[in-house]
Amino acid sequence: MSVHRVAPPAITDAVVETIGNTPIVRLVTAGSRAQVELLAKLEHTNPSGSIKDRVAQKILTQLKAANKIKDSTVLVVPSSGNLAISLALLAPRHGHYKVIGLVPERTSEDRIQLLKSLGVEIVRTPIEAHADSAESQFSIAKKIATDLPDSILIDEFVDRANVEVHVEETAQEIFIQCEGRLDTLVVGVETGGTITGLAKALKSKIPGLKVVGVEPEHSSIQDGVNRSGAWKVEDIGGNFRPAILDKSLVDQWVQVSDQDSYSTARQLIREEGVFCGPSSGSVVAAALRYSESLTKDPKPRILTILNDTARNYSSTLLSDDWLLEHDMMDETMARSAAYHRH
Ligand code: PMP
Repeated sequence: MSVHRVAPPAITDAVVETIGNTPIVRLVTAGSRAQVELLAKLEHTNPSGSIKDRVAQKILTQLKAANKIKDSTVLVVPSSGNLAISLALLAPRHGHYKVIGLVPERTSEDRIQLLKSLGVEIVRTPIEAHADSAESQFSIAKKIATDLPDSILIDEFVDRANVEVHVEETAQEIFIQCEGRLDTLVVGVETGGTITGLAKALKSKIPGLKVVGVEPEHSSIQDGVNRSGAWKVEDIGGNFRPAILDKSLVDQWVQVSDQDSYSTARQLIREEGVFCGPSSGSVVAAALRYSESLTKDPKPRILTILNDTARNYSSTLLSDDWLLEHDMMDETMARSAAYHRH
């Protein structure tokens, strides 16, 4: 039996108690190629496989404390999927059962099945619908929450809990794990909760820390320029500026293509054994691109936040056929896929 360096966690009464305290690992292969110390905080080790467990836990605790929800209240959630999964996992532990998830069409079938297995009622919404239009996930969610008695809209794009949890918990973990030594933080952005919370807390403690925001190509969070909105990577990017995002805390933005995101995620799985999803691929690809502009002596220390698990994407990220069909393979993948076909 291997010897544990730290005591394993004690037995708990519920999965909610196992949220957070996620590990940070060094991405040795990618880091040595880029001549930087590249670190990754593995949020896929949370119970439902994403960082949103933290947010769901905070939202439910605050709503309960403020007596805003009863055991019968239906939670209406416009989310790209992960928050709905986390809420569905945790709601029964808080006495609530029903979750309605408003999910954009780009969401993978795996995630839909996962949501269904947790008892979530799914409403699909068009990708291209602008946030203000009647068909957007927000407008539909608002209408459901208004029409349905005893229901509440959970809007992670405006809920301050989505920032506070990262100020109070995730950032404190990072500060301890990195012993206060960090040059750059690289974070994927959709609601802006993670980047705003982490940047706010860590910049106040680590002078000179640079924060890099990551969105897909064709997304318009950084500059508000109206683009086509067509990208495949789930969970990052958007066609409006979220209310909780504090752009003044972001020093630089990097846009990453789908191809680069998927191939980097597959590289992380293959070379580092890090079982992360496509948005993590975007974040690491952005960190590698950003690191090209840095002086390498002393070696810069860059932390990436890897937000969810590859297991949500067996029909996309993990499928060679899907990658081939959508022209997302890099040379190594194409060679290996060809080998397995023969
Ligand atoms: N990656 C994944 C996998 C996510 O679920 C999310 C949240 N939608 C993000 C990145 C972006 O994080 P945030 O919403 O805090 O900006």
